[in-house]
Amino acid sequence: MENKEFEEFGKAALDLIVNYNESLRNRNVLPDVEPGYLSKLIPGEAPEKGESWQEVIKDIERVIIPGVTHWNSPHFHAYYPTANSYPAIIGELLSAGIGGVGFSWIASPACTELEVVTMNWLGKMMNLPKEFLNCSEGPGGGVIQGSASEATLVCLLAAKERTVRRIKSLHPDMDEGLIKSKLVAYSSNQSNSSVEKAGLLGSMPMRLLSVDEKCSLRGATLLEAIKKDQEAGLIPCYVVATLGTTGTCAFDNLNEIGPICNEHDIWLHVDAAYAGAAFVCPEYRHLMSGINLTDSFNFNPHKWLLTNFDCSALWVKNSRSLIEAFNVERIYLNHDKEGLAPDYRHWQIPLGRRFRALKLWFVLRLYGIEGLQKHIRHSINLAEKFESLVKSNEKFEIVTERSMGLVCFRMKGDNALTRQLYDLLMSRKRIYLTAATYQEKLIIRFVVCSRLCIEDDIDFAWNEITSQAEVVYALTHQQVDCTDKPIPIPGKNLGTITASIEDLIINEIKISQKIT
Ligand SMILES: *Cc1c(COP(=O)(O)O)cnc(C)c1O
Repeated sequence: MENKEFEEFGKAALDLIVNYNESLRNRNVLPDVEPGYLSKLIPGEAPEKGESWQEVIKDIERVIIPGVTHWNSPHFHAYYPTANSYPAIIGELLSAGIGGVGFSWIASPACTELEVVTMNWLGKMMNLPKEFLNCSEGPGGGVIQGSASEATLVCLLAAKERTVRRIKSLHPDMDEGLIKSKLVAYSSNQSNSSVEKAGLLGSMPMRLLSVDEKCSLRGATLLEAIKKDQEAGLIPCYVVATLGTTGTCAFDNLNEIGPICNEHDIWLHVDAAYAGAAFVCPEYRHLMSGINLTDSFNFNPHKWLLTNFDCSALWVKNSRSLIEAFNVERIYLNHDKEGLAPDYRHWQIPLGRRFRALKLWFVLRLYGIEGLQKHIRHSINLAEKFESLVKSNEKFEIVTERSMGLVCFRMKGDNALTRQLYDLLMSRKRIYLTAATYQEKLIIRFVVCSRLCIEDDIDFAWNEITSQAEVVYALTHQQVDCTDKPIPIPGKNLGTITASIEDLIINEIKISQKIT
């Protein structure tokens, strides 16, 4: 493809992106396709001769869009947000346009140095302890990882190396394999699945500890688990505390956990994947109190800070721990400026790395601190609006306190009601929510996700939820002998559904599968 054609292709792609964004509000958030839909729409073999870009781009609307779950739709309230903004999209484009991989400084100095600078900007914006920053005295620093999962694993591996070295220095004759076999890690039973996975990948048992009634991991629980393992001859090595759990956005108690970890030489990592973004606003920083006691801190600008996936910000107090764990020297990787700037290949699992700092730089510059604060506050205001709508309706209850942009609610009464409501909502595809359980109660999570979300979209979601709750009530109060009569659904042009006892049972099975 020549330059001229690339320009036309690029312009057409930008138009498509803009039109897509404009259309989001009017689309169903969930696609209407079955597994295997796509292979029926395109040939089973790659084309023999190259096609025109016009042909290819037409297939975005025909083949791709029908099978897209619209994560950036203002009707998307599932999981947590995935960031999306125009500055970040252009940053991605330029990153691809410039190309290259930045595993060492010389491999692409701008790639490394912009990452150092943007990670310092970001750390300062959030008022992280200065020991975490690259610009401070000492071995601290920030690095962009691909995901929070990677950050948790990278720090687990660094903690493992650090502990092995420490035990070796105390007991020089002790076998390294034996030390490794005794290491244990801890986290709460509310932590993200990626935390347990890091334990699996790093061959370290991950104890999933119980939490208090606010879903927060407390110091006493951790201490008890540590003592028990020490008595059994094991070596506590790594703790992952979560600020903003995936289920209910709960915050572990860093002020209690921190001193215990420091006293026992345990690496304390903070996973603030979603909620960390809120620390750009001073009014939420009390929620990271105790951060000075930790070894590493991670959050995802690719969740709630408008920087498209992938961009996960990790800061460590001692980058030497990473380098000691990951440094594998090869003559072809050496260069004569070593030591003057980080060689980020020693801070991560892969060798190659993309120029991710570019999109972060664009977001920070085009929004400014003020713009980002506004985005966070806007999401939280909308969540407060949703919370007050739930509270004003006597059929519903809030389950755990609203936290950040997340509201956990359910229908009062038996779990079956909430199950049915959830299943109806999912089958209608107008809004997308996820379900979870809290103390045996089935709950529905409502998250303000899209940057496009406004008050009207909250009303839209609430109308959809309450109209379907009416249907659930109608179904529940029906007699068994008239179960297959069509039931009118309140609201305009919504059609009718038929309910039978079997339907209800199938619904229950379907939803319990979805939750797990
Ligand atoms: C989303 C989430 C993760 C996983 O993030 P990835 O970047 O997809 O690995 C980890 N921890 C918490 C608390 C999360 O909410």
